[in-house]
Amino acid sequence: MQMRTRVGIIGAGPAGLLLSLLLLREGIDSIVLEIRSREEIEATIRAGVLEQGTVDLLNEMGLGTRMQREGALHHGIELRFDGEGHRINFTELTNGRAIMLYPQHEVLKDLIDARLKQDGRILFNVEDVQVSNISTDQPRIHFLHEGEQVELRCDFIAGCDGFHGVSRAAIPTTEHHIFTRSYPFGWLGILMQAPPSSEELIYAYSERGFALVSTRSPELQRLYIQCDPQDDIANWSDEMILAELQVRLATRDNWQLHTGPITQKSILAMRSFVIEPMRHGRLFLAGDAAHIVPPTGAKGLNLAVADVRHLARALARFYTQQQSDLLEAYSTTCLRRVWRTEHFSWWMTSMLHRFPDDDAFQQRLQRSQLDYTVRSRAAAASLAENYVGLPLDW
Ligand SMILES: Cc1cc2nc3c(=O)[nH]c(=O)nc-3n(C[C@H](O)[C@H](O)[C@H](O)COP(=O)(O)OP(=O)(O)OC[C@H]3O[C@@H](n4cnc5c(N)ncnc54)[C@H](O)[C@@H]3O)c2cc1C
Repeated sequence: MQMRTRVGIIGAGPAGLLLSLLLLREGIDSIVLEIRSREEIEATIRAGVLEQGTVDLLNEMGLGTRMQREGALHHGIELRFDGEGHRINFTELTNGRAIMLYPQHEVLKDLIDARLKQDGRILFNVEDVQVSNISTDQPRIHFLHEGEQVELRCDFIAGCDGFHGVSRAAIPTTEHHIFTRSYPFGWLGILMQAPPSSEELIYAYSERGFALVSTRSPELQRLYIQCDPQDDIANWSDEMILAELQVRLATRDNWQLHTGPITQKSILAMRSFVIEPMRHGRLFLAGDAAHIVPPTGAKGLNLAVADVRHLARALARFYTQQQSDLLEAYSTTCLRRVWRTEHFSWWMTSMLHRFPDDDAFQQRLQRSQLDYTVRSRAAAASLAENYVGLPLDW
């Protein structure tokens, strides 16, 4: 069977779905292909922190109604070390900007709902996706859908299929450069049924390693501790996890963690990764397909949003004004923000984690960086500016 669309989008994550809606707004037809089911996508727990620019874009597109109602606006975070907490006041340091805590799977529910209401096509449960002819102006996507082999003919392909997708692998190895770093630690993440222990996120540096207190809802909390990335989650009983959280988060004034049943736990490896350029011929990569950041800066989803906003603008210019200048500039434009974000995420990670080979000198440097960040307005403002996110046009 043959199908035809202007933009074939591989992947119904935040990048692919938002791109399809941005294109729809410009009157540009697209089809989204996704290997998983709608139910699976809407149940996968991942990101939770939305930058100000992401929030503004969702609102501007009429996609923010539930986010405004159910999300939680945060005006700062706490950096905790040496038994003391220090608030970084985003709103004061960034002229009123803030972040929104609204889980990624809720964003995805809103995007899928909006796309289907506008008669946009999403094909779930596709199999064996492959791209061809990407160096020509008639690229194709081949896949199986409901037992039938389909060839999708398009003008452009958007590779929004995440880190493990097929798009990036279609670019010849002689045509790209990969930049990567893996970290000698991972995050053990839990979901816990308990009331929030803090109104804002707490990033803690301790002798025993990093800990993060985040939240999902008034009843469900998300917490993380630094761990060995090779460790097996079966080695961690609930009691051990809670004890480790208590020690790492302890303060001199006896701060208390609210605890309850742990409903989910897993270990997440951490890496930084960038491919350059983010385009080959008529294939454009966006989101995790092109770059990965460690989660310490809470940036992955937000970076995906920034990419597809540029891509949608570039495609709109191509179709409405027959100009391909923004498409030509796509990779360079995105990579400026990608590398800023890579640096910020690496910097937060390096400042807050214990490294297996760190010595007393290294630890003194980390403490000095933390101390400077909370005591200098300029340093705190830099963290705040990056955390709430630079303007989308930066
Ligand atoms: C535990 C955790 C916490 C995080 N916290 C944050 C945070 O607080 N803030 C933040 O901004 N980011 C965070 N992130 C990162 C964020 O979740 C990702 O960066 C984001 O999901 C990237 O979106 P994407 O659309 O590029 O890719 P994905 O969300 O990975 O979506 C890709 C989609 O493509 C589909 N797919 C894959 N292969 C194919 C194929 N061959 N054919 C068709 N479809 C395919 C996948 O099933 C998937 O649905 C976190 C990540 C994790 C794991």
